[in-house]
Amino acid sequence: MSSVLATLVAELAAGRVTVVDLTQPLGPDTPVIGLPEMFAASPGVSIEVISRFDDKGPAWYWNTIRMGEHTGTHFDAPVHWITGRDLPNNTTDTIPARQFIGPACVIDITADVAANEDCLLDVAGLERWEAVNGRIPRGAWVLLRTGWSRRSTAEAFLNVRDDGPHGPGFDQAVSRLLATDRDVLGVGVETIGTDAGQAGRFDPPFPNHNIMHGHGRLGLASLCNLDRLPATGAVVIAAPLKLVGGSGSPVRAIALVPA
Ligand code: MN
Repeated sequence: MSSVLATLVAELAAGRVTVVDLTQPLGPDTPVIGLPEMFAASPGVSIEVISRFDDKGPAWYWNTIRMGEHTGTHFDAPVHWITGRDLPNNTTDTIPARQFIGPACVIDITADVAANEDCLLDVAGLERWEAVNGRIPRGAWVLLRTGWSRRSTAEAFLNVRDDGPHGPGFDQAVSRLLATDRDVLGVGVETIGTDAGQAGRFDPPFPNHNIMHGHGRLGLASLCNLDRLPATGAVVIAAPLKLVGGSGSPVRAIALVPA
């Protein structure tokens, strides 16, 4: 065994590395993104018992589950977006597993979101973070901490008004900088998707999806417990189900964090 893995196992056993669960509970109450009526909707979670220690299976319990691929805490593969549809290794079963692990850079804009729920991380905000924490390393997960996961009702979490959903995200220039110059694995957010609530009105629509997936980058949505991560120094592990041709999947995202 290499010394670094032996050290990791020892540090986990000693509690000097902790595991933080970045995943929301997944069930029938999990909020699902709404789209304008002309588009097909993604179903929420339904769970049906196959057997539960009964005539259908006297000694075993199991369920059938049904949901859209992009439900709850979930992973976005590049093929999710039209800009990424022709890239190699762009589906959940073909993305190299190496890409399911990377260092976390946590950018906290919670105070800005409290003042303006539609606020966007911009290049200046990224550069302010880098001035304190160092340059975003290649292959990092960039996680946008907004406090949004504390919104405990579906209504508050989805935050839909007459003019559509509202919530924070990334501006187009910072998405481009992260996907190209910073060469990130992808971005993760606490909100229902990796674009801002109003991003359907942006040009192009949903620019973070457009740019990230067009460059083969990944996404994580509906994360929680980002307030338990340091700005740098944690490692995120987020492996989607190996769905054949899948555009994404619910994921159990975890972080290894130095205590
Ligand atoms: Mn998604």
